[in-house]
Amino acid sequence: MPLKIALLPGDGIGPEVTDEAVRILKNVAEHSGKPFTFSTHPIGGAAIDVEGVGLPERTLEACLGAKAVLLGAVGHPKFDGRVPSERPEAALLALRQALGGFANLRPAICYPALARRTAFQPERVRGANLLIIRELLGGLYYGEPRGFEASGNTAFNTLIYSRHEIERVARVAFTRARERRRKVASIDKANVLETSRLWRAVVSDIAKEYPDVELEHVYVDTAAMRLATTPTSFDVMLCDNLFGDILSDQAASIAGSLGVLPSATLGGRVDLYEPVHGSAPDIAGKGWANPIGAIASAAMLLRFSAGMDQEANEIDHAIEDALAAGARTRDLAAPGERTLSTRDMGQAIEDALHDIRDRRHAYHAV
Ligand code: NAD
Repeated sequence: MPLKIALLPGDGIGPEVTDEAVRILKNVAEHSGKPFTFSTHPIGGAAIDVEGVGLPERTLEACLGAKAVLLGAVGHPKFDGRVPSERPEAALLALRQALGGFANLRPAICYPALARRTAFQPERVRGANLLIIRELLGGLYYGEPRGFEASGNTAFNTLIYSRHEIERVARVAFTRARERRRKVASIDKANVLETSRLWRAVVSDIAKEYPDVELEHVYVDTAAMRLATTPTSFDVMLCDNLFGDILSDQAASIAGSLGVLPSATLGGRVDLYEPVHGSAPDIAGKGWANPIGAIASAAMLLRFSAGMDQEANEIDHAIEDALAAGARTRDLAAPGERTLSTRDMGQAIEDALHDIRDRRHAYHAV
């Protein structure tokens, strides 16, 4: 059975970076012998322009009929005057809701070649490689009741979690940790919040199913400080919706550029993969966009939706090798450094992938 991938390039730099991710996926399909099928569909501003709505019925149907969805980005300044529900970004929220993923995975890696580009002292951040797993469908952002009191001077939200919601996202965290350094840091505020006390108890219960994975409970304020001082001390960080939203952005600072960050949203009807960045209208069409976030999202797709761990690892190594060899898009370049276009960066990563495979074949031939 071919792996059915729905491509939603979207707006701005979305199509530019998606093209490079597809280049790498096609290369993998060719070399692995596993057939992939791609179908491309409009979303966001591109869909509003053609079909009048941000998430056309046919786009949604194609996504629901696919094994995985790979999205570029949505958003365009020409829609800025519209009410939120009619803006391109609303289409992405509707898509995420329809696909129903409850676990949002955001890796943050400090590629050694980029350590000097971060706000950290290079020796503190070099080697940092962490995976934030954020519960996406519950907690403070969805809890009822919520609202304003009649006076307009008091407002309230509800932070609520059930055992089931915590169990399922905790299992994702422990499962992923097994493929990494076998460490989970569960983030909470159990010294203040009842929901956090439940969170801590449930995560401890699930940990018993994974005796080979080390669990620590970390208060969210301590976690924020550790991310800023010793980010290398984390492997997998398991967070509720609110803490994960904040800490995943903080963790992104170890990467050196928004353009290199991937994401996956798992656990729903169909898994969704997308770079973290937006449509970057300021650089769209110039060939300046960094495709690494999209390419690393494609690697996550192979790992989680296709079970192709070796191919996913090879793509991750190819990104690291290309950077180590000096490949830089403008967002990564130091003043005076030579820069590559989006396409040339995609090509540099594809070349590095060939080299990795050649080395693997040579090793097996010995
Ligand atoms: P943005 O992520 O698009 O851009 C922020 C800055 O980072 C810009 O200077 C941009 O040039 C740069 N940048 C982003 N991605 C890059 C890449 N791959 N390579 C090089 N540089 C990159 O955020 P923004 O400017 O706040 O938003 C622009 C539009 O994107 C808005 O309409 C916003 O609503 C939308 N948006 C969409 C998503 C999404 O689709 N998931 C996420 C965030 C923002």
